[in-house]
Amino acid sequence: MKKIVVWGLGLVGIGIWTELMVRIVRYMEESGRKRRQKTIATTTEDEVGLNQLPPPDNTVILFPDKSYSCHTLVRGYQCLNRRCKFLHQSSFLSLVRVLRSAQTSLDLCIYVLTFDDLAQVLIDLHERNVKVRIIVDGREHEALGSKVSELRQRGLNIRLSPHSHSRIMHHKFAIIDGRTLVNGSFNWTKNAILNNYDNIMITSDSKLLRGYQHGYEKLWDTFGKATTDADAEKLLFSSG
Ligand SMILES: [Zn+2]
Repeated sequence: MKKIVVWGLGLVGIGIWTELMVRIVRYMEESGRKRRQKTIATTTEDEVGLNQLPPPDNTVILFPDKSYSCHTLVRGYQCLNRRCKFLHQSSFLSLVRVLRSAQTSLDLCIYVLTFDDLAQVLIDLHERNVKVRIIVDGREHEALGSKVSELRQRGLNIRLSPHSHSRIMHHKFAIIDGRTLVNGSFNWTKNAILNNYDNIMITSDSKLLRGYQHGYEKLWDTFGKATTDADAEKLLFSSG
């Protein structure tokens, strides 16, 4: 009789133990599945494919942002840090996304270029064999923090307006792949992102693009030849 009781208790114990193990395994599988779902759900389109997404059309981007954008996203990588304290949606990231969409060319005309992150976007594009051309103001490029020298050292093609006291190269626009125009009040500085009231308009309007591209080619040629204001004026005003 005693043996039967012991055997019975033993079998019950094995049953409980087996059931417990099955539940633990199920729990672990379920929590793993939930974790994977959560990772997918928090990975927005801003975090993936920054180099592939087509630029939005007829959009306005307004600044300032309320704080810094996530640097991982700015560099075009996914940020899977769920404790990341930086912005994953911001005006600056919208601009970066447009710039990083370049596949063949980026023509930039900018008065001030001092922000590291934007200089890095240009370097990344250049290293991806996107043809990057940059026009910068001839005096401003000597200002503290200008990224022009560094970009030149990295092999980027830059032309300066004549070092002038009478005219400044005040444009702030970019043409991406000859198809997307980015234009507005925004200089490429950290201040413009975090402190200034600035705007950027993005459009693929063909008439506007033709006008800006024509203007860009004219300035590119002019600043490739002219070293003084007088030279530049002669070249610019000699023909349409
Ligand atoms: Zn992040």
